[in-house]
Amino acid sequence: MSAAASTPPAAGPAAARSAPSHPVLARTRAEFAAARGGLPGPVVLVPTMGALHQGHRALLRLAREISGPDGSVVVSVFVNPLQFGVGEDFGRYPRTLERDMAVCGEEGAAVVFAPSREEMYSAEPLVTVDPGPVGRLLEGSSRPGFFGGVLTVVLKLFQLAAPDVAVFGHKDAQQLALIRQMTADLDLGVDIAVVPIVRDPDGLAVSSRNVYLSPAERSTALVLPRALEAGAKAAAAGPAAVLAAAGAVLGEAASAGPPLALDYLALVDPVTFTPAGDDHTGPALLLVAARAGATRLIDNAQVALGGQAPRGPGLSLTQGR
Ligand code: AMP
Repeated sequence: MSAAASTPPAAGPAAARSAPSHPVLARTRAEFAAARGGLPGPVVLVPTMGALHQGHRALLRLAREISGPDGSVVVSVFVNPLQFGVGEDFGRYPRTLERDMAVCGEEGAAVVFAPSREEMYSAEPLVTVDPGPVGRLLEGSSRPGFFGGVLTVVLKLFQLAAPDVAVFGHKDAQQLALIRQMTADLDLGVDIAVVPIVRDPDGLAVSSRNVYLSPAERSTALVLPRALEAGAKAAAAGPAAVLAAAGAVLGEAASAGPPLALDYLALVDPVTFTPAGDDHTGPALLLVAARAGATRLIDNAQVALGGQAPRGPGLSLTQGR
């Protein structure tokens, strides 16, 4: 399959979810190689950091649809130290492997690869992936080293799992764009499939980090999807109107208790991640990052500037599957 393709094959009824499985748990490279070797293809990889939630389940379901009843889904569960900066939450990131195994079983995964830090990085890597210009913008600017860490572990996982397809979420839109870029630029030969953002009924994008939020912080955080929705509604009036509408909603939350601390709000070209200029028409991405209390949250929406219909699924802020 081509690395450029991004939409998953249509899943017919025959590809419906299979009965719960008992995935093999591989903790070492050797165990994983042995389990991977026996898997019937196509092999579909779902890379995660664990603490699996509804968003991850949506990825697992798409993976199962793509693999079909005769293929195999492999899930990686690894909290990747390389992508955490000093003072970030690597130490307290939720680790729930037993529950994650049950979720993977319910969603029909064949193998869960959950290596230790030492198993994944026997030594500090001296050669890592340079994410290039897009990797230095927005999330890359706020979290120096983040995308280099993400791309390095994704490349290692592709090498170890040798998947036909890998599934990622649009929740991390810039990460997704960089993974596609790496896959194309380095000829990795892995097809990238995408799942739209899955939201809780109140609109908040589901995230493993949401468990950190107090009820008051959560209600502050809800301004993120509301701001995106307000911005998307203003799309016909152009980029400045989108940013003004979203910014106005975020501004109100600056005085909430606890206040929302905005990191960035940006309307960008979905390929270059550079600001969508006044004359930009067609698809654009509205991206936001902010802190509620100590928890950093990101969210995004695809908007159609100049009245052009946005491409693909996941364009609205309605609740996901
Ligand atoms: P993580 O475990 O947070 O590293 O995420 C693993 C994968 O799940 C990434 O491809 C994320 O983009 C995706 N993901 C996380 N949360 C969501 C969500 N709410 N909706 C869709 N995909 C998600």
